[in-house]
Amino acid sequence: MKFEVFTLLPEVFPPYLESSILKRASERGLIQVNIFNIREYTHDKHHVTDDTPYGGGGGMVMKPEPVFEAVESVMGQNPVQTTGQPVPIILLTPQGRVFTQRVAEELSQHEHIAMICGRYEGVDERIREHLVTDEISVGDYVLTGGELPAMILIDAVSRLIPGVLGDPTGAEDDSHSMGLLEYPHYTKPAEFRGWKVPEVLQSGNHAKIDQWRREQSLLRTLRKRPDILEKAELNEKEKEFVKSLKSNLTGNSL
Ligand code: SAM
Repeated sequence: MKFEVFTLLPEVFPPYLESSILKRASERGLIQVNIFNIREYTHDKHHVTDDTPYGGGGGMVMKPEPVFEAVESVMGQNPVQTTGQPVPIILLTPQGRVFTQRVAEELSQHEHIAMICGRYEGVDERIREHLVTDEISVGDYVLTGGELPAMILIDAVSRLIPGVLGDPTGAEDDSHSMGLLEYPHYTKPAEFRGWKVPEVLQSGNHAKIDQWRREQSLLRTLRKRPDILEKAELNEKEKEFVKSLKSNLTGNSL
């Protein structure tokens, strides 16, 4: 999968992308991340990429010309993937649709995506209107730039690409993948400061372990994120289990 990133701060990407799982994914050719400095697509002496807003007010706005030129010279006009689908050109913005595991899954179906990172007060509106095809927010808060959001997208999408995680089923049980939060994990030692690992996990009985994990997943989703539990697909037995959890719900007992 190929990611093209357009930014004013290219230097912030390598330390993260050249570490651990993403580094290996890149070395194995499973992902390719190309970072483009928007400033290099300016033609004036001072390489200006921002200007004051029409109508007044504080802050600066990213100018349209270098952003259009950067994206169009790298991607061409109306870029398409081998599937014939257009390449998504995503603007990272707190005004976009909120990034979730579902959106990560959707993006992982593409072979090529481009991302534009804003700075200052954001980008000239004509970039949003005439260049980008999608707008994504990483949450209802405002960051100083789109670089961290771009890295979040690259990270979350990459780990869904077959072969990127060492364990091919690694992402399946992750929180939000199945509409629930993941069950708790333990590792050695079996006892630490008197706190013991649940016996069932040491039993070697995989059916029991699976059942315990599913119940823990339901329990912690009910406790921490009842909003997502409402939408989760549960079988009849699980619905009964949740019902019994709810009826036992007294103060901190869950
Ligand atoms: N004035 C803008 C507004 O209120 O919508 C916010 C601009 S913000 C300070 C600068 C840049 O950071 C944005 O253009 C965007 O690229 C990025 N950014 C900030 N918060 C973000 C978020 N929650 N999700 C995605 N990108 C974000």
